[in-house]
Amino acid sequence: MSTPLLSVRGVTAYYGNIIALKGVDIDVGEGEIVALIGANGAGKSTLMMTIFGNPRARDGTIQFDGIDITRLPTHEIARLAIAQSPEGRRIFPRMTIFENLQMGAALADHARFRDDLDRVFAIFPRLKDRLHQRGGTLSGGEQQMLAIARALMTRPRLLLLDEPSLGLAPLVAKQIFEVIAELNRNEGLSVFLVEQNAYHALRLAHRGYVLVNGAITMAGTGAELLVSPKVRAAYLEGGARRTASTATPFPSPQTGGETSTVQ
Ligand code: ATP
Repeated sequence: MSTPLLSVRGVTAYYGNIIALKGVDIDVGEGEIVALIGANGAGKSTLMMTIFGNPRARDGTIQFDGIDITRLPTHEIARLAIAQSPEGRRIFPRMTIFENLQMGAALADHARFRDDLDRVFAIFPRLKDRLHQRGGTLSGGEQQMLAIARALMTRPRLLLLDEPSLGLAPLVAKQIFEVIAELNRNEGLSVFLVEQNAYHALRLAHRGYVLVNGAITMAGTGAELLVSPKVRAAYLEGGARRTASTATPFPSPQTGGETSTVQ
């Protein structure tokens, strides 16, 4: 791979004295969809938030487009071409769709607002039909569309997506994954996707990583991980609902393990 768009090296993160990330390495190349899968509490959301500087990485480095962003304040990271759609969507429930999208565009060039609005409406026509409806009254799927649309208003090169399928009916989740694939295919958008729905995530992703108890234990192409017996047993055959404390399918650093690459 040429220089990755996002490069995370040896990153640790803590909540107080509790370690949540234990030296994580991941890369996202330009134009790639990369999935991070793992059980509840493995540290997936923490990694996503650490890339944005909160919690801050205590050790290691994070580079975006060749810039070291490890110590940059979150508001400065947000000015780069990285956007985030966080877990639980975090839309503004009392604001209308239009106002939510205005908030997303706050850091973008105002002259482009109309064009950016048209662009996200072309991707999510349903949002245009509900322009003046309050965010909190939308269905879960519509809220997820709004969260992604809001992130796209800054014209990111890299989109960080945390659990976009969470709480959605399977058909709605499938539509969301299709939109992500189209954005990648048609616009070359790079995507770092955190998901408990390992099947959809790995089908969609060019490459994937498995996070167990704050450490990466496996890496490979999406197709390789999908057929890996370890991944299947832990995340695809009823294992995904297990918590981090019970799902220890791969050796972790605490037990002397290292990242294994699927051949
Ligand atoms: P889920 O899929 O359930 O969201 P996750 O893989 O995203 O799980 P994280 O939310 O990153 O996991 O949590 C990793 C660990 O850090 C867990 O043990 C969790 O309890 C802990 N943790 C997360 N947020 C905080 C916080 N604000 N304060 C203290 N501990 C936290």
